[in-house]
Amino acid sequence: MANGYDVIIIGSGPGGYVAAIRAAQLGLKTAVVESKHLGGICLNWGCIPTKALLRSAEIYHYFEHAADYGLSAEKIGFDPAAITKRSRGVAGQLNQGVTGLLKKNKVDVIWGIAEITAPGKVTVKPAAAEAYGKPNTPPKGALPAGNYEAKNIIVATGARPRALPGIEPDGKLIWTYFEAMVPETLPKKLLVMGSGAIGIEFASFYHTMGADVTVVEVLPQILPVEDEEIAAHARKRFEKQGIKILTGAKVTKVVKGANSVTATIDTGDGKTQEITADKLISAVGVVGNIEGLGLEKLGVKTDRGCVVIDGLGRTNVPGIFAIGDVAGPPMLAHKAEHEGVICVEGIAGLHPHAMDKAKIPGCTYCNPQIASVGLTEKKAREAGYDIRVGKFPFIGNGKAIALGEPEGLVKTIFDKKTGQLLGAHLVGAEVTELIQGFVIAMNLETTEEELIHSVFPHPTLSETMHESVMAAYGRAIHI
Ligand SMILES: Cc1cc2nc3c(=O)[nH]c(=O)nc-3n(C[C@H](O)[C@H](O)[C@H](O)COP(=O)(O)OP(=O)(O)OC[C@H]3O[C@@H](n4cnc5c(N)ncnc54)[C@H](O)[C@@H]3O)c2cc1C
Repeated sequence: MANGYDVIIIGSGPGGYVAAIRAAQLGLKTAVVESKHLGGICLNWGCIPTKALLRSAEIYHYFEHAADYGLSAEKIGFDPAAITKRSRGVAGQLNQGVTGLLKKNKVDVIWGIAEITAPGKVTVKPAAAEAYGKPNTPPKGALPAGNYEAKNIIVATGARPRALPGIEPDGKLIWTYFEAMVPETLPKKLLVMGSGAIGIEFASFYHTMGADVTVVEVLPQILPVEDEEIAAHARKRFEKQGIKILTGAKVTKVVKGANSVTATIDTGDGKTQEITADKLISAVGVVGNIEGLGLEKLGVKTDRGCVVIDGLGRTNVPGIFAIGDVAGPPMLAHKAEHEGVICVEGIAGLHPHAMDKAKIPGCTYCNPQIASVGLTEKKAREAGYDIRVGKFPFIGNGKAIALGEPEGLVKTIFDKKTGQLLGAHLVGAEVTELIQGFVIAMNLETTEEELIHSVFPHPTLSETMHESVMAAYGRAIHI
């Protein structure tokens, strides 16, 4: 078969490139089609460059609090251009890393915009000459636009920022994450619309760098997918730092001036408030990239802007699969990667476990960090579980105090009847690193008994996890 493959994957984000490498490992002849950047949003404009920005903010924060540690730091300052340059450098390094990994695994890269023209057929048109204001050059060795064939086609085209009518991003005054990632100057006053992970991470970054930040959230709590108590704890910490937060509030109108935006906010109590800011970041979610792929013509089922799949990434049309953001929430890189692996293993005739969305962790890398897996307390009760809840504050942990990070909370939720760990919710220093312990525990269907019996190293923040489990059973030691 000319230009023929076992698998063609459209999109090279964490879903696409990981699926491609796994397919190659399984001996499948594999190609990835990409139109802009190997590695997708995650490592070019999402997970990785934000973490680089947040790292600069974190170090700056510690400089500012040097005296708390018996240190002195004078003339503390920063260069926004250098911070952005570092972040772009980190993204560039990972983009090169993905290029190398695909090459090493003998995955072909086809450069251009893909459309599925018929089952098994992919037409690739030339990519735009520019992407993000820069020449859009293909990686060395990439195959050109043309017609390609594959027994299996995986749609991994990701998502893009959602725009609210009348508040459409313009790249100048109303930003999406693209502009917020590479600011030419730092806004003095910033309005963030939406308090999911993306909105809160940018709010945290810009606030730490000195901006006067207001976050507006339409739902009653910030970080709406998180446990109520954890979100409330985080909110208190943000407000103590000086971030202003309006919940149950809606931006109803935005008027643009020469160098500022004035937003009218319905504060939900029958009143409105006007806020003028240098920039508004629109962080009201993302929508799947389902257009222009030929999905409608082929009869591929979609729902609310995403492709409908089963636990193995299969759509309703044989030979067409979807993974990652385009296949629906949670829109997270590790979910995309895992779906990619499962999908390809299914194609190869292995028998992988179907995706279990209940055990996908979620992390927000602001200050303080937030991390969770499984059911919130509210969801566990709504699901009809009789539960035991354990809570342990960081103030009872020696390492947290030694680090100067005594504020934080670990909350665990167990099924009273069986002892099954149903959920874990954390806020505080480094909790995005701690959560994986609970993810493994849940995957191993661990009960409180094994967790309590496990020995946790001392002194570590991980002891808060142990204590939280013990607290659920009335056995916490350090509180
Ligand atoms: C600011 C920000 C911060 C984030 N932080 C985190 C985080 O900390 N942790 C986390 O887990 N997630 C985070 N995310 C989410 C994460 O980036 C996404 O979940 C992840 O990138 C989804 O991977 P994907 O493979 O589905 O798609 P994407 O990464 O979006 O990749 C899709 C690729 O497909 C290409 N493409 C689209 N259409 C076509 C076509 N027709 N032909 C050829 N190529 C095409 C695109 O150019 C793109 O490269 C963040 C997102 C943002 C925006």
